[in-house]
Amino acid sequence: MHPANNWLSKRALLSPSRTALIWKDQTWTFAELNKEAAQTAKRLRSLKLNEKPIALMIKNTGKAVVMIHAIQKLGVPAVLINNRLAIEEWTYQLSDCEAQLFIVEDSFLNKVKLAEISLKTVSLSELDKLPQAEEDMPVRSDICSIMYTSGTTGKPKGVLQTYGNHFASAVGSALNLGLHSDDVWLCAVPIFHISGYSILMRSAIYGNTVRLYENFDELEIDRDLKAGKGTMISVVTAMLTRLLKIRGNKSYHEQFRCMLLGGGPAPVHMVEECFNAGIPIFQTYGMTETSSQFATLAPEDSRRKIGSSGKPLFMNELMIVEEENEVCKPGESGEILVKGPNVTKGYLNRPQANAEAFQAGWFHTGDIGYLDEEGFLYVLDRRSDLIISGGENVYPAQIESVLSSHSKVSEAAVIGRKDKKWGEVPVAFVVKADPHLLADDLIAHCQDRLAAFKVPSEIYWIDELPRNASNKLLRRELKKKAGNDS
Ligand code: ATP
Ligand code: MG
Repeated sequence: MHPANNWLSKRALLSPSRTALIWKDQTWTFAELNKEAAQTAKRLRSLKLNEKPIALMIKNTGKAVVMIHAIQKLGVPAVLINNRLAIEEWTYQLSDCEAQLFIVEDSFLNKVKLAEISLKTVSLSELDKLPQAEEDMPVRSDICSIMYTSGTTGKPKGVLQTYGNHFASAVGSALNLGLHSDDVWLCAVPIFHISGYSILMRSAIYGNTVRLYENFDELEIDRDLKAGKGTMISVVTAMLTRLLKIRGNKSYHEQFRCMLLGGGPAPVHMVEECFNAGIPIFQTYGMTETSSQFATLAPEDSRRKIGSSGKPLFMNELMIVEEENEVCKPGESGEILVKGPNVTKGYLNRPQANAEAFQAGWFHTGDIGYLDEEGFLYVLDRRSDLIISGGENVYPAQIESVLSSHSKVSEAAVIGRKDKKWGEVPVAFVVKADPHLLADDLIAHCQDRLAAFKVPSEIYWIDELPRNASNKLLRRELKKKAGNDS
């Protein structure tokens, strides 16, 4: 059910004068944010809405945050569209979710016109001009948000995220990371993605400040982290790489207490570099289907368990199983299954995908990992990316980590290429940081650090790695380049 008490209303009642949001030179207290969201909700009501989802194509702006809260007040599911998608990708999502209304940031109106959709579309500033109506929604959905998966492995699926999922996620995170009343969470990840959206939900639930950035600019974030403008930040590997490159010798402010690193595998050398620089890094494992973090490495274990994504957060359970759903022993790798109140109740309109993903109450993540003797999770890779070479399992992420630790490498991606003798062999696509890098040097670097069957059989130089709109590596594109069919 939709919570009787909207989180933002409750928060505005409990701590009205605390700062809720900072965006550019604008600041909102919780009372102000709540008031604006309530007014926007009334304007939306004048459109005579039904219970079908409202789709949003927004940027990280103050107005967009107000809109997210306004839709929660209506009790209608919001579909968060990735604004970097191609026309056919987002129009597919609009029809798949059967949206009743499309709300877009003004600057996107042109591209929406180009798409020639029949769905009723309004811009944020057009909405501001609508009259405020009082009627309440007859039915309030328990679905808070719908987010499409990144489509890294196939066609994106709409993940249903309930209010209960977001609440459990926020509570589980706080019980691990702790709650400080003066916390300021820097949000430079997109709010249409679970990484950013969950920062907004935590803020309403905890009562802490969010400092929102329209884009990730490493110079700006570096400056703000050093000036003490934030105590926590969520980053993905690519962002952290850019931050480390420009950091220099000056440390981040002493009140900065959490660099939450998620979204994909993190090279161990990067985590080590953070330790050496005194950066409080917390590796986390989660996905759209778990409404953000599922497991996170607790501060006290960070150094001892480098490379681990920690233990499942409060109320969450995790299990590693082999092909036949046999539970793996510590150290044995298999598919990661998850269970808990932050796990989605399913994909929208996807009976087949739901039947495959949910079995006996467990959600099959499609990721491979193992637990050590103490129950710490190590995520290895996606099952679909696993390379089997001469009967040995080879995880691309491990080889990529070794390749990218070479000082003349900017980025690397590894895939399996079909091979008559071994079935598959790993081959690498490498973006040079230094044009003088030679394949032989890189191979020697790998030979020193990896078993022979993991050393790439071939290095392809590439200017840029193919990524999707969520900036995730598209290994299937590389497979085509390497001459594989799929
Ligand atoms: P799709 O499901 O459409 O293929 P996606 O899985 O990339 O897209 P997200 O939900 O944004 O979409 O990403 C979650 C995935 O990111 C996880 O399932 C996992 O593969 C990867 N991931 C997240 N955290 C980690 C981690 N700590 N280590 C390794 N991989 C991770
Ligand atoms: Mg996924």
